[in-house]
Amino acid sequence: MAGFLAATQYNFRRAAKDLQLDEGMILRLLTPMREVKTELTVTRDDGSIATFVGYRVQHDNARGPMKGGIRYDARVDPDEVNALAALMTWKTAIMGLPYGGAKGGVNCNPRELSLAEQQSLTRAFVDGIHDFIGVNVDVPAPDMGTNAQTMAWIVDHYSRYHGWSPGVVTGKPLELGGSAGRDAATGRGVMFALQAYLRDAGEELAGKRIAVQGFGNVGSWAARLLAEQGAKIVATSDITGGIRNPEGLDCEALLSHVRQVGGVKGFSGGEDFPGEELLTSPCEVLIPAALESVLTKENAGEVQAKVIVEGANGPTTPEADEILQQKGVTVIPDCYANGGGVTVSYFEWAQNIQQYTWGEERVNEELRKRMDQSWADLKQEGAGSADLRLAAFKLAIKRVASATRLRSS
Ligand code: NAD
Repeated sequence: MAGFLAATQYNFRRAAKDLQLDEGMILRLLTPMREVKTELTVTRDDGSIATFVGYRVQHDNARGPMKGGIRYDARVDPDEVNALAALMTWKTAIMGLPYGGAKGGVNCNPRELSLAEQQSLTRAFVDGIHDFIGVNVDVPAPDMGTNAQTMAWIVDHYSRYHGWSPGVVTGKPLELGGSAGRDAATGRGVMFALQAYLRDAGEELAGKRIAVQGFGNVGSWAARLLAEQGAKIVATSDITGGIRNPEGLDCEALLSHVRQVGGVKGFSGGEDFPGEELLTSPCEVLIPAALESVLTKENAGEVQAKVIVEGANGPTTPEADEILQQKGVTVIPDCYANGGGVTVSYFEWAQNIQQYTWGEERVNEELRKRMDQSWADLKQEGAGSADLRLAAFKLAIKRVASATRLRSS
């Protein structure tokens, strides 16, 4: 995943140059604060021993405790975790949250692990990182391949070392201090981001044809919420393939199908098609919500959407960004568009600290306000420029550099 790290650093340097940031600050903000690598030994269900490698990269804490998900995926490597950790620093700054950035991951294929094996792996990971995370230090959350159950195991295992600490992770089940609305938050934030853009453009969401890559947490929630508002989800895809219906997919029925058979393939309410074609399929809005580096110089020219809302982290390479700009396609960048997840994670953490719970209506309303405020900040920073990624990086760098200077002077 060296390309993804290079792309993140390229976007940072482009904005830093525009801001005329001095080389000392550039180096400081490019260099991660701490990188932990830990070996995880797990006894498989058949009695054999398996070894995995886990990472936690803590990128920056100038603005507060570090925050970022934990990913279980076969592509996890140090460069990928580093890129994602830096993106979290920029994302929390853009969303105006009192956090820095971090990310974790274990190189594994969670689909090949039983629930018991996933639990052992998670507990082994906590053994390796518990001294480096904490309510006021670094607060993990779910990402690809992990979910509320994974967070429950982390709370349990971390609390064995440090006493009852529900605020050590977010994205927990409600019974263990999770927040109403957290599961849907990233997808809901994607919808709010698109609504903010359409409002400014004087366009309606109802009737828009939308294609969504990935039908996991982010993709399935975004698709369902957007369909509820009258948009047509004309195509989606996951690891098993693609499914399309020009009249709009019934996303609730599709989710039931996915829960039954493990993927979108074979859904009776649409037509199967090769998942690789999703990004260039006919639509007005494209939501990549699966993997990084999927929009490249090879396929960006074929994109038919007029607007791309980045649900996933890092889905667009710099070369693709340039092609999309030339084509007049608006890209709403990841570090704003998928910021709804970390925003509601912040609400969850605040509720844990206060030992006071909010209702879902309040969570969703506060999320909308934060997404709208950050959109306004982004537009102001960009001052009319179509390059929203540059505006986002500039806004984030200004906020983090300012906190860094204030703390070190
Ligand atoms: P998830 O594991 O719930 O879902 C991932 C989806 O991508 C699955 O449907 C999977 O089948 C699909 N997928 C995998 N390989 C694919 C391929 N080659 N083609 C098409 N689809 C493929 O993960 P998630 O939590 O929904 O995360 C998705 C993206 O959103 C990641 O980039 C993640 O970093 C980002 N993100 C997640 C959150 C969150 O709160 N979960 C917050 C911010 C950003």
